[in-house]
Amino acid sequence: MPAIAARVSAADGTVKYGVSLPGGGTVETVFMAQRDRVTLCVSSQVGCALNCGFCLTARMGLIRHLTAGEIVGQIALVQEDQGLRDRPFNIVFMGMGEPLHNFDAVIAAFRLLIDPAGFAIARRRITISTSGLAPAIERLAAEPVRPRLAVSLNATTDAVRERLMPVNRKYPLAAPARSVPPLRRRDGRAVHVRVRAARRRQRHRRGCLRGWRSCCGRTPRS
Ligand code: SF4
Repeated sequence: MPAIAARVSAADGTVKYGVSLPGGGTVETVFMAQRDRVTLCVSSQVGCALNCGFCLTARMGLIRHLTAGEIVGQIALVQEDQGLRDRPFNIVFMGMGEPLHNFDAVIAAFRLLIDPAGFAIARRRITISTSGLAPAIERLAAEPVRPRLAVSLNATTDAVRERLMPVNRKYPLAAPARSVPPLRRRDGRAVHVRVRAARRRQRHRRGCLRGWRSCCGRTPRS
């Protein structure tokens, strides 16, 4: 079972947890309370392979994928620590890692989270945030039950995006542009494409997440 190794609270109510994993390594899980909305930001990998230029996690490289148990374990830990047993909350896969690069474990975790005999969380309260791995988006569209999806493009041209996100060399803007519409036809507004993340990068620069590697930032509304 994952365990809380560190806990840092901010004045705005955000609590950032360092969670040590039974399989080795530490990831970050973030509790965010915004007015009447509570969101937990979870990690899906230790490190990340995608090497985005604005991200501290990228410097680690990919160390390993988390298991489904390690993903839901983060949620169980924060739920307990924050007394969320009877309070609805949202979940975003926007911590360490590219969730669609760890597709099988993330989808297995999603199934456990929505299972009425498990966490019983409404599927529309769960969002996967991706850098735009087009084949995995197509795979997601074929799933019988799907979470919400947020695609972070971060730029409107391939030239700019390639500088920020090397993954653009493999999947340029045209790739998610092809893979997102079939999912949108099934899920409508539950599929959200973010073009600009300038504010998020500014927050990184200002040190809002100083000492934390997570790329967790703005969360989609639900
Ligand atoms: S921004 Fe997300 S996808 Fe990019 S390197 Fe960081 S964790 Fe990976």
